Amino acid sequence: MVARAKAMPDGNGHREGLIRPAVRDPDLSEHRLLRAVVAQSPVALAVVDADGVGVLWNPAAERVFGWKAREVVGHRLPTIAADFEAEHREIVARTLGGESILELETKRRRRDGRLIDVSISTVPLQDRRGRAIALLGILRDITKSKGIEAELAWQAQHDQLTGLLNRRGLTERMGTFATDRDSAHGAIALLNLGRLNEVNDSQGLAVGDEVLRTFAKRLTRAVRPSDVVARLDGETFVVAMPKIPVDKVEAAVTRVLDQLGSHYRIGGHDMDVAVSAGAAICSDRDAPEETLRRAAVALHEAKLQPHHRLYLLEAEDDRAFVERVELGERLAGAAERGELRLHFQPIVSAASGRVAGAEALVRWEHPERGLVPPAEFIPLAEETGSISKIGSWVLDEACRALAGWVAADPAAADLNVSVNLSVAQLLDPGLVPHVAEAAANCGLSPDHLHLEVTESVLSTDPEAAARVLEELHSLGVVLAIDDFGTGNSSLTALRRFPFQVLKVDQSFVSGIGVRPDDETIVVATIGLAHGLGLTVVAEGVETEAQREFLAQHGCDELQGFLLGRPEPKLAAVVDSTS
Ligand code: C2E
Ligand code: MG
Ligand code: MG
Repeated sequence: MVARAKAMPDGNGHREGLIRPAVRDPDLSEHRLLRAVVAQSPVALAVVDADGVGVLWNPAAERVFGWKAREVVGHRLPTIAADFEAEHREIVARTLGGESILELETKRRRRDGRLIDVSISTVPLQDRRGRAIALLGILRDITKSKGIEAELAWQAQHDQLTGLLNRRGLTERMGTFATDRDSAHGAIALLNLGRLNEVNDSQGLAVGDEVLRTFAKRLTRAVRPSDVVARLDGETFVVAMPKIPVDKVEAAVTRVLDQLGSHYRIGGHDMDVAVSAGAAICSDRDAPEETLRRAAVALHEAKLQPHHRLYLLEAEDDRAFVERVELGERLAGAAERGELRLHFQPIVSAASGRVAGAEALVRWEHPERGLVPPAEFIPLAEETGSISKIGSWVLDEACRALAGWVAADPAAADLNVSVNLSVAQLLDPGLVPHVAEAAANCGLSPDHLHLEVTESVLSTDPEAAARVLEELHSLGVVLAIDDFGTGNSSLTALRRFPFQVLKVDQSFVSGIGVRPDDETIVVATIGLAHGLGLTVVAEGVETEAQREFLAQHGCDELQGFLLGRPEPKLAAVVDSTS
């Protein structure tokens, strides 16, 4: 045991005081003790003299390097450092020069030829005059921990399923990508496997995974060696093409898409999985992350257009376009984030002036833009597919509001609430059950729920629309045709669909007292609607003259700024929901 390390005036020959002199047991004599330490040391110890001849080689060294002590001691060191000659010479020279080297991590070769990771420390051994005459090497095999380290580093940057770079690996690669693109531009393409969820659902996750692996292999083969391929998440892959000239991007991505093909045969199943791609050109100003973001926008656009496999976004492309797509993405989470509001506009009886109900009108409270009107975001929601989510929210909220009014004031039991439905909502298979559920959850009689659709329902998919409207009608909800007279098939719509309410469009109402033709149309429409047994609501009533005219000609109900603007609360009732 080391009691105290004294100064060693006589070099390392005899280290008086290193071993406690009190030890008298012959089994613990200095010599025996040192031998035991050397023999049992778990780290490899080697002493080599100035000529490179082995002096000491302990059993741990035998285990680490595979060379026996008898092959080393008294011989020049074998081929352990053969591939690292320069480094080895430097270590020896520095150590014999009197310097100690601490934990140098490097590699050495075992007797069986295998390379191992080692940590080397060296200490000069001096003679009585203080001259370094030999070198003590302390060596540890760190292959295992190095291997784990390397494995972890690899895993952090790669996707486990496909072995491609993951988002993090890609980002690190893109750092170099950025410094690379000095003259030419470069581009980033995002590729998305459509319908993979369907494969997962119908064939199982294992088949889905195999499709992803196969796709990854095909993609790696399809790109140029200088391209960087990564899997971002789920079914989205990236091809970064450094330095590709702008005018070559479209052809390059198209070539990749062509080579990928869409057919997969996995575990005896044949399937087609189409790929959409969005590509963006790197501009000189943009960081690669910006290009990646723009490529995501392009991909989004490509997915909206089923016949476009590739959408290419040029650097000069309109900011407004990117903003619109980003707005669309934000909109998708607006309901979850609690950014949607419902305003209610009263609908009053033309004869009595009493409130008959209210139309629910949605608003989006955008954190930066403030209140966004529906005319701006409903079309966007339709285009980007988030209309169903928004529509569901509106439906629930409107039913809840009406139930709240009734709870607060029994007189409100006669009120109706009107909810607008867009075409996309109408064609959503979840609509009918949701309408039934929304009304039932709030204890509403279905005939107090009015659903407004415009004539545009006819043009998109009339058969499907007719089916859904019939089902809604059977539920007992009231259907209203909104903005009547603005489409080009108004009369057909009346004949074909089970409407009970007709809303005369604001553009005709505003002509009352101004344009005789509009007055004629309004009067004829009221007559027509009544002839068919429909209730007529006039929209956009702003003046007393309009109100009088409409009442005189038998219009049933009125809606417009004259009677009340859309407000968060319905003025006619005490709202208990707030
Ligand atoms: P709409 O269903 O025809 O709704 C009436 C629109 O006219 C509302 O605009 C309302 O604020 C406005 N308005 C009411 N009275 C007057 C008036 O006297 N003068 C004028 N100039 N305008 C009046 P808003 O709220 O901006 O909604 C516009 C359209 O957005 C709605 O037209 C409807 O088609 C759609 N929309 C609103 N909320 C929803 C919704 O929850 N779902 C769906 N799918 N569409 C909605
Ligand atoms: Mg409406
Ligand atoms: Mg309308």
